[in-house]
Amino acid sequence: MQKILFYKMSASGNDFILIDDRNKGLDSEGLRPFVQQVCRRRFSVGADGLILIESSTRAHFKWRFFNADGSEAEMCGNGGRCVAKLAHLLGIAPAQLSFETQAGIIQADVPMNKDIDRMSLDELLLVLLGRNRLESAKGIPDALVSVDKETRTLLSGSVKDYGVRIDTKERLLEHDCVDFKTNRAAARLFCKHLGAFVRRVDPARGVHLLRELLRERDHWTFG
Ligand SMILES: [Zn+2]
Repeated sequence: MQKILFYKMSASGNDFILIDDRNKGLDSEGLRPFVQQVCRRRFSVGADGLILIESSTRAHFKWRFFNADGSEAEMCGNGGRCVAKLAHLLGIAPAQLSFETQAGIIQADVPMNKDIDRMSLDELLLVLLGRNRLESAKGIPDALVSVDKETRTLLSGSVKDYGVRIDTKERLLEHDCVDFKTNRAAARLFCKHLGAFVRRVDPARGVHLLRELLRERDHWTFG
């Protein structure tokens, strides 16, 4: 019998089985009977629906949603909240994420304020960077990262040839690489350079900075 790792989550009274199928381990032909079987209460896991996380080239991931009868649906609000939370917990996507559905790209923001005070520096960075960019940030040699100015309210320096300026009083983060300007700043997310920069700062200060930034993210300007 094939073993399949699954997650069970609920939102507003609906419960779902979630499976990370980014490496296409499931037999796509037999999906419908499979969904009917595992969603059947008392006889199997039991759920209102089943959600597959698949890889996407247009968003952090793609979802497929199946009702308990095996029919596929475009969108389900409660299921969407579950998949966003799980994708974030598994490091598939940052807290502000997007996923592809048959109804188009959905933006979601995983609420996690109450968890912020318990998160480590790398966990905080994972939220702002996502897994791939965090790995890239760790790969930038220390020699290319410099913190030139460090006062109570200001951190500035450079990563490679790019400037970094973080002003906690004005809640302003300035950086000038292409990835940041085009993909990251609007959603108030970090590029690999910003990740490398914060990792170079004193860890206690880095943690404090990121917690403050995440708690008050709506009041920050990234540009
Ligand atoms: Zn950058």
